[in-house]
Amino acid sequence: MISMETYDLRGCNEEALIQVCQELGLKRFRAAQLFQWVQQKAVRSWSEISNIGKEDRSVLSAHLQLHPLERIKEQRSADGTRKYLFRLHDGEMIECVLMDYVREQSRDRHTVCVSTQVGCAVGCAFCATGMEGFRRNLTMGEILGQVLDITYFVRQEDPEFQVTNVVFMGMGEPLLNYEQVLQAIMLMNHERGLNIGMRRMTVSTSGVVPRILQLAKDNPQVGLAVSLHAADDTTRSQLVPMNRKYPLAQLMESCREYSRITHRRITFEVALTADNANQTQAEAFVRLLKGQLGHVNLIPVNPVAGTGLERPDLEKLKKFAHVLEVGGISVSWREEKGTDIDAACGQLRRQWRVGNNEPIDSI
Ligand code: SF4
Repeated sequence: MISMETYDLRGCNEEALIQVCQELGLKRFRAAQLFQWVQQKAVRSWSEISNIGKEDRSVLSAHLQLHPLERIKEQRSADGTRKYLFRLHDGEMIECVLMDYVREQSRDRHTVCVSTQVGCAVGCAFCATGMEGFRRNLTMGEILGQVLDITYFVRQEDPEFQVTNVVFMGMGEPLLNYEQVLQAIMLMNHERGLNIGMRRMTVSTSGVVPRILQLAKDNPQVGLAVSLHAADDTTRSQLVPMNRKYPLAQLMESCREYSRITHRRITFEVALTADNANQTQAEAFVRLLKGQLGHVNLIPVNPVAGTGLERPDLEKLKKFAHVLEVGGISVSWREEKGTDIDAACGQLRRQWRVGNNEPIDSI
């Protein structure tokens, strides 16, 4: 009698599956078949795995759990952006977003923005997720599962569909769930799985300094985005409370070290509100980023009920960008996606819970 623990099938690499098959007395090639069905074809049930016999499937399914995410809600924007609210097997809910960028000169980009935690402990002032506090980390299977399930759903309409890029910018602070995020990246990169290039994945952080340095050493290929949002400690500590633990001097030092090790350009995210989109802040960013290998991405905030923050008008945005450009800083505006749906992180989950009279936790 085999006494094996059960594993999350979506979180298993090929080596782990080979070991399971060996322990169960099944042929080794079953592992490769299983890996392909799960990681490439993105199946959501054992019954879809058609080239493994019923008997073997039943032996395998006793030890390998397949937990597809339950699609609670899908919103589609006029620009093609799709936002999903998924329920996990323990009842918790997460959001993720698919953004399509159709290109004339190069191949189309299909970017999935994944969540890495249920809720978030960081508590950024402009973020609906932060308003609800932290509940738990996602497993690598749950992180990867968002990309797999979106692939599955879109392929029902477009059988050739492939996710090309992944950004870790959904609910949660990815670097506070470091191991699971790193392993999910490795699996998404697998050539017999989703086969998403390392350089097509970007991890976003509010500034967890020790993990930025660790990421540079563990995976120098993956992209890094730092949510900067302010160029002085007083303002940044209000907007991004992580700054109280790792103030700007430490953060920028770690960014310089990151670029020295990886030779990669960091994307600095700056959320602009009607308040901070001013000349003084723009000049402060120029001083802060002078000489740093990086690029500034300006994001006009999505209005989130309860934050009191307002979106800046276009004129303010243009002036802000101009000051940065004149100061020699590379800058762009994030191509706005899904503004007609609740595209800001955490909004959909929060609204659903309010609408269904579920309690909204305080931090
Ligand atoms: S913006 Fe990101 S890090 Fe900040 S509270 Fe929201 S999910 Fe957490």
